[in-house]
Amino acid sequence: MMARVRDSWDRRILRAEQLAATGGPSAPLLTFYGRLLRSQKDVYDTFHRRPPSGSLERDLPLVMERGSALLHEVAHHGPDRLVGEARTLLEMTNSAISNQLLTYWSAPSDRQFFPKAILQPYAQWLVDAGVTPSDRAPAQAANRCPRCAGAPQLSILETAGAASAEGSSRLLLCAMCLTQWSFRRVLCPHCGEEDERRLGYFQSPAFEHLRLDACHSCHRYLKSVDLGRLGLAVPLVDEVAGAPLDLWAREHGYEKIELNLVGL
Ligand SMILES: [Zn+2]
Ligand SMILES: [Zn+2]
Repeated sequence: MMARVRDSWDRRILRAEQLAATGGPSAPLLTFYGRLLRSQKDVYDTFHRRPPSGSLERDLPLVMERGSALLHEVAHHGPDRLVGEARTLLEMTNSAISNQLLTYWSAPSDRQFFPKAILQPYAQWLVDAGVTPSDRAPAQAANRCPRCAGAPQLSILETAGAASAEGSSRLLLCAMCLTQWSFRRVLCPHCGEEDERRLGYFQSPAFEHLRLDACHSCHRYLKSVDLGRLGLAVPLVDEVAGAPLDLWAREHGYEKIELNLVGL
């Protein structure tokens, strides 16, 4: 089942700016993320004027039209560890950058910041426009996005009233194309563990609508954003705002299923 209408780029940008303005430990991350979301929206909007074909190889010039602006944005305003990487990429030839994007497209890795940042809006546009990628056919699995087989970036809990007998009111959000899909509540999205005693849920009073879902079998985790507790949350952005939870998880020996775009 495909879930409710996804968040728009504008909603994500606004939420990042609002959360950044409240200060707090994650404010610099959110300021950066807000700027990055703006660059990603520009990449996405390019496709309204000139729709891509669905073959990344053919669409690369179009993707890089605003993709190189994203690189410049990060080179000028990004966190230190990304500035160097952005400058290196800007010095590379177009074909070298193209090769990175094509490699990422066939085998995504959350350790590669720029291909993920540039291809997220491309992947979302293809889904929104109903265009099936012609040069990408990754293996399907229940814990992978039904549209593009991407890994889950986070999980979304909807209002308690929406829960069915099967407990299907949990969604996963794809890290690649940002599609949401239903997933059982008591089930590790990494290894498939379903023994309740081996699944741990952690919360901090600082983030009442966030929960850290950890698995004692594979030692992986992701965050859940509880929209029943905070309906105005924008999962992709609120997940980033919960950065202190990532630090806590790492200290306790858990590895995230998929790093987000601020590298946590
Ligand atoms: Zn996807
Ligand atoms: Zn697991």
